[in-house]
Amino acid sequence: MNQQIVTRSAEETERLGYSLGALLKKKGLAATVCLYGDLGAGKTTFVKGFASAFGIPGREVGSASFVIVAEYETAPPFYHIDLYRLGDEPCTEDIGLWEYIESGGIVVIEWAEKLGEMPEGALSVTFQHQHEDTREIVIEGIGHDELHALMGDIGKL
Ligand code: ADP
Ligand code: MG
Repeated sequence: MNQQIVTRSAEETERLGYSLGALLKKKGLAATVCLYGDLGAGKTTFVKGFASAFGIPGREVGSASFVIVAEYETAPPFYHIDLYRLGDEPCTEDIGLWEYIESGGIVVIEWAEKLGEMPEGALSVTFQHQHEDTREIVIEGIGHDELHALMGDIGKL
């Protein structure tokens, strides 16, 4: 299933991230979430909300832009991966990316374009800059019931 959502502020995008995180947490789903979109499209903003559903303070997310893998010792473990600084030749083996993905933790990947292929069973969230404060966000790979719950939670049903 996929769903297109338009957010009108950074706070709305953060709230959408929180709702998706809370839903995955409640369902006990180990998940890989691939985030796509250009610089400034809202990926890190989304991750701040998403991570806070797992007890990670939003301000800790993305605070060090040179970090490729930020690891949080939550239960389940949470990995925020930002491939921005990876060159055009994917060297995902070098950072042990696939081990994180197969670890059973929660893995969120910014600039997932650089992965080449999408991990099996991953959700994808694609961000498009529309106007100054509006972003079109498309969520794909989520089940029908989860999607319904998510839309209800963010008040877009
Ligand atoms: P990315 O990680 O994709 O490069 P960021 O989340 O770091 O993007 O930056 C998005 C920027 O756009 C932030 O400065 C944020 O405040 C701003 N912004 C404005 N409107 C929105 C919106 N609707 N959703 C997300 N971010 C928004
Ligand atoms: Mg970012």
